[in-house]
Amino acid sequence: MDSTVNFEVDGVHLGHLRVPHSVHRSAYGHIAIPIAVLKNGAGPTVLLTGGVHGDEYEGPVALSNFVQKVRLDEIQGRVVVVPALNYPAFMAASRVSPIDGINLNRTFPGRKDGSVTEVIADYVTRVLLPLADFVFDVHAGGSSLQYLPSVLSALPDESDAGWQTARLIEAMAPERIIYFDGDRALSGEDRVIGNYARKNGAVYLCGEFGGGSTVNPDGLRMVEHCVSRFLMHLGVLSAAGALQYAETSRVLDQPVRTLSYSMDEPGLFLFAQRPGFFAPSFRLGEVVRQGQLAGHIYDSTDFWKTPTAVTFECGGLVVCQRTFAQVEVGDCLGHLAQPC
Ligand SMILES: [Zn+2]
Repeated sequence: MDSTVNFEVDGVHLGHLRVPHSVHRSAYGHIAIPIAVLKNGAGPTVLLTGGVHGDEYEGPVALSNFVQKVRLDEIQGRVVVVPALNYPAFMAASRVSPIDGINLNRTFPGRKDGSVTEVIADYVTRVLLPLADFVFDVHAGGSSLQYLPSVLSALPDESDAGWQTARLIEAMAPERIIYFDGDRALSGEDRVIGNYARKNGAVYLCGEFGGGSTVNPDGLRMVEHCVSRFLMHLGVLSAAGALQYAETSRVLDQPVRTLSYSMDEPGLFLFAQRPGFFAPSFRLGEVVRQGQLAGHIYDSTDFWKTPTAVTFECGGLVVCQRTFAQVEVGDCLGHLAQPC
């Protein structure tokens, strides 16, 4: 895998990451993943990624807008933008790649001699992450989940990276931030891009900005606001550049109060215990209490059977809700976050 862009020379470089892909209809073909490099003099390198999952759209829209609206003379340093990192998945509007069925964000550090998705992960680990001092990775709930737009972060520790993370969060001033334990998140899953960004010494932040395979307008506004203030804080984007990009003077205002939440309790996640179709009795953004009814799972094969009640194990703010009614055992129906 290689690229058509120059990472080292000043200028706006628009091109592709190229994944060799020799198939029946194209013997010497490659998959062309769009990438933009905006470099202007000395300064930190920021990697902005979207589309790690192919059915999440706030990242691709916000990062496309960034490259189209921001002029090079508003940049100091280097910004590397990959709006749809798992491009085959993006083109298929799918969380996982249609080529190998792999979830890019469960395959880091990847394999140089692996399948297409593993090769993309390997290139990110070996080439893009070592370039980056800071990474902002834009996610959403994809097809199966809808999120209340929120920035996500591991709890900043006493390290230099932890200190920088805390300052960046303060500077971004998102309406809502959800902290999680980096070691315990995703049931111990560590094959995620954030883990390898941190191993490479980069400061990593991400967020969930909507979902349901749509573009959430509030989430998109939050991404553009956060990216602007993130880059301004680092001195990589001028105030004029931020105004061009985010199109609101709010990016220059004093930070508003950020509401902080934690999602470390396993009981905050609600899973289906039986198959069927789920009728929720809660709404995204609602505050629920422990023991409250979350909804009912109906039996798809016996409509006359009493549906199974599902209740919340904990109380908290509903930050995520399943979009699909049909469920199998183990599907996530939603999850909560608790004020901290
Ligand atoms: Zn995602």
